Amino acid sequence: MPHDQDYLLRADDLACWFDVSPPWLERTLSRQPTQTLKAVDGVSLAVPRGSTLSIVGESGCGKSTLAKLLVGLVAPTRGTLRYGRNRKGGTLHPQMIFQDPYASLNPRWRVGNIVAEPIITLGLRASPADTRRRVDELLELVGLSASDASRFPHEFSGGQRQRISIARALATEAEFLVCDEPTSALDVSVQAQILNLMGDLQKEFGLTYVFISHNLSVVRHVSDRVAVMYLGRIVEQAAADELFESPKHPYTKMLLDTIPDLDDPRRDREPMAGEVPNPIMPPAGCTFHTRCGMVQERCRSVVPEVAVVGGREVRCHLVAAGV
Ligand code: SF4
Repeated sequence: MPHDQDYLLRADDLACWFDVSPPWLERTLSRQPTQTLKAVDGVSLAVPRGSTLSIVGESGCGKSTLAKLLVGLVAPTRGTLRYGRNRKGGTLHPQMIFQDPYASLNPRWRVGNIVAEPIITLGLRASPADTRRRVDELLELVGLSASDASRFPHEFSGGQRQRISIARALATEAEFLVCDEPTSALDVSVQAQILNLMGDLQKEFGLTYVFISHNLSVVRHVSDRVAVMYLGRIVEQAAADELFESPKHPYTKMLLDTIPDLDDPRRDREPMAGEVPNPIMPPAGCTFHTRCGMVQERCRSVVPEVAVVGGREVRCHLVAAGV
């Protein structure tokens, strides 16, 4: 395991709960109890500097809330989050890349101003001329040109807009980017270009990524480590090649079964069995028991703890028992 200082992020027992009860009067009249959505519930992870950790799972599993927790956009209900220092020994400024770059770029601002804003806010350049030079440099770094600074976001394609988002994130001299489905709104060929760009930037600047995705084919190519999330908890966490070679948790196996087989594309893939239950009323015990083909009696009432099996972390009674 890397030394503590080599981690850019450590999360310990992180939870984020939301009160989703109906208004007080309505609840009192209908005698309903309060309702809590446990979007993230007891997540522990560590991200080594310069690596990519992917967090995968179906919609509604808490991935996006976890992403927001990791960059400080929402406060944890419980648990701790510790960032390492940046390379200069200063405070780390985690940045987020969103799925829809158009929604995250101010449509009334020219691209040059969008990229310049964090530089000015953080006082990273001494003069307006230096800031302009840095903006030009960043636009070229992400495959755009300096002349694009005078254009507006709507003049760009989806892929180009995602490049602008990346330039803006790098403008903060960010070393840690949390990317929430950064390519899922893009065409497949454009997805590959953006993933290649992110990979090149990681190599050049030693960036650290947390990559949120439901697309396992993409995750396989970009990750050093993968955490599989189900109803607010990580159910399996392992090195990417080990997880894809021999998944242990029944949910991981189910997810991997949906990836098309490139060697045999005509082979039928197993569809996902059932749907993610309502996270406001998750099943008791192992929350996956309503969909699990290996379910045992105690799975319905006893929450499985995290077990370390063969160097990976798994939450499953059967895997912990070596079955
Ligand atoms: Fe399936 Fe039980 Fe393991 Fe949950 S604990 S994944 S229900 S076998």
